[in-house]
Amino acid sequence: MTFHIITIFPSLFDSFMQESLIKKAQEKKRIAIVIHNLREYTANAHKTVDDKPYGGGAGMVMKIEPLVAALAEIRKKYVKTGSERIILLSPAGKQFTQRHAETYRKKYTHIIFICGRYEGVDARIKKYVDEELSLGPYVLNGGEVAAMAVVEAVSRLIPGVLGNKESLREESWNKGDALEYPQYTRPEKYHDQKVPRVLLSGDHAKIIEWRKKHTKKRKKCG
Ligand code: SAM
Repeated sequence: MTFHIITIFPSLFDSFMQESLIKKAQEKKRIAIVIHNLREYTANAHKTVDDKPYGGGAGMVMKIEPLVAALAEIRKKYVKTGSERIILLSPAGKQFTQRHAETYRKKYTHIIFICGRYEGVDARIKKYVDEELSLGPYVLNGGEVAAMAVVEAVSRLIPGVLGNKESLREESWNKGDALEYPQYTRPEKYHDQKVPRVLLSGDHAKIIEWRKKHTKKRKKCG
């Protein structure tokens, strides 16, 4: 799986890509993340990516030409085989869920994110994207944080990315269900709180039963 991120702030991804499981997943070649600096796709000397909105109003709007040029270059250079999904990150898009993550993992080999900034992107970009996706019902400064969230959620579903397969099997939201039960680690006693005795018992059947009983039901996902 290759994730392509079109952004005007490439360095926001430096630590994201160089830490923890995302770093290891790249080293193990389970995923690749390619950051595309949108300014490299501008035709003018000032590398301008935004302009004033027609009709007036506050702020600037991202221009369409550099974005379409970036998409064309990514297709030409990287997406020679396999299937691609072009995602415009937008607060007005469909809300991202675990189900999206599972579908992306199964169906696509290249996921291309367009990270908006300013007041958003020229609406004509919609003709060039497969879907608009929102991280949630709030407005962020840009699409970068949303892109990172999607990359993480999809990556952990790719075989070999998580160290322990069990983590994935026991994950919250798997199969649309919430499987969240209370977890504890050392110390056994913290001030007035003790770890439930059953978890110290070594009796696996009883532990499973206890976890089932204490699994919190949350809203179905997706
Ligand atoms: N003027 C827009 C509005 O009122 O909806 C907000 C634009 S926002 C400041 C700039 C960019 O951040 C958007 O184009 C989008 O790419 C990204 N963004 C903001 N909130 C987001 C969210 N909840 N999910 C995904 N992307 C988001």
